[in-house]
Amino acid sequence: MAHKPQKYELGLIGYPIHASLSPKIHKAALEETGLAGHYRLYPVPPGEPHALADMLERVRAGEIHGLNVTIPHKQAVIPLLDELSETAAAIGAVNTISLKNGQLRGDNTDAQGFWHDLQNLLREDKMGHKPSQPPPGPPQALILGAGGAARAVAYALLQNQWTVTVAARRFEQAQSLANHYACHNTRQAPRISSSKYQASQLADLLPALSLLVNATPVGMKAHAPGSPWPEGLPLPPMAAVYDLIYNPPRTHLMRDAELAGLRVRGGMGMLVEQALIAFEIWTGRKLPSSFMV
Ligand code: NAP
Repeated sequence: MAHKPQKYELGLIGYPIHASLSPKIHKAALEETGLAGHYRLYPVPPGEPHALADMLERVRAGEIHGLNVTIPHKQAVIPLLDELSETAAAIGAVNTISLKNGQLRGDNTDAQGFWHDLQNLLREDKMGHKPSQPPPGPPQALILGAGGAARAVAYALLQNQWTVTVAARRFEQAQSLANHYACHNTRQAPRISSSKYQASQLADLLPALSLLVNATPVGMKAHAPGSPWPEGLPLPPMAAVYDLIYNPPRTHLMRDAELAGLRVRGGMGMLVEQALIAFEIWTGRKLPSSFMV
């Protein structure tokens, strides 16, 4: 950042956002770094393009120093920006906006946030269990869901040489995600595929999986209780399980996976990691996620 403000004005645009945990994380980050500032919620309902454009103009004017973007604006902000990071361009979604050299810039910190936190899961050893031996060959992941978060997760895994299968209840959505990366980077094409979200279609994949990611909202406290895993299908025997949901901290899927002796992790670590990467973009200050513990 060329110019360091005396007081950082940061915030989140999206809708609905009243339950967001971002203010808590960024307030803690400001306190930890000794920087003065606020992180405010700016609810912008869908279908109000002028309200969205006004918020971005406040960043351009230097009145706001950084914005996070969440549903439903992660794609809608793109035409209003001057430039995109390589990651945001590849994923096709923006969750962090800053002003760099007078240019409104969009980043996506979800992919890196997921990847950082995934390392905690992959090196974790469950008490009393040996870490499961990964199946031979390139590591393989199955992602359930094909929305915005699944896109970021798939990108992170593909960039790190994983092989990825995406399963979604609307098969065409899974196909569209796989095609997006296959077309964006032909070197990734052979490593991403789509599957129907059915026990009979997924069963053959299971022995080869090193990772299962839930990127659906199934298991969220208020939204959809239950497990996203198809009933009657055994869990993949050698996979670690990453559930992007952070509320509740232990989901139905995580409980079932633990009972099956698998390593599990919920989405809180990713949430903190993606926030701290955004905080660094805005302030130049890097914090380890451990400071939140
Ligand atoms: P999204 O764009 O709405 O995508 C959700 C995906 O899940 C879609 O493929 C959707 O299919 C599918 N889905 C929804 N309900 C389903 C059901 N009952 N059964 C099967 N599939 C279902 O949402 P998102 O932004 O990707 O978020 C997905 C989850 O990740 C949410 O729980 C969110 O809280 C979490 N998340 C966590 C973090 C973190 O930092 N930990 C970051 C981002 C997201 P349809 O399109 O057919 O509904």
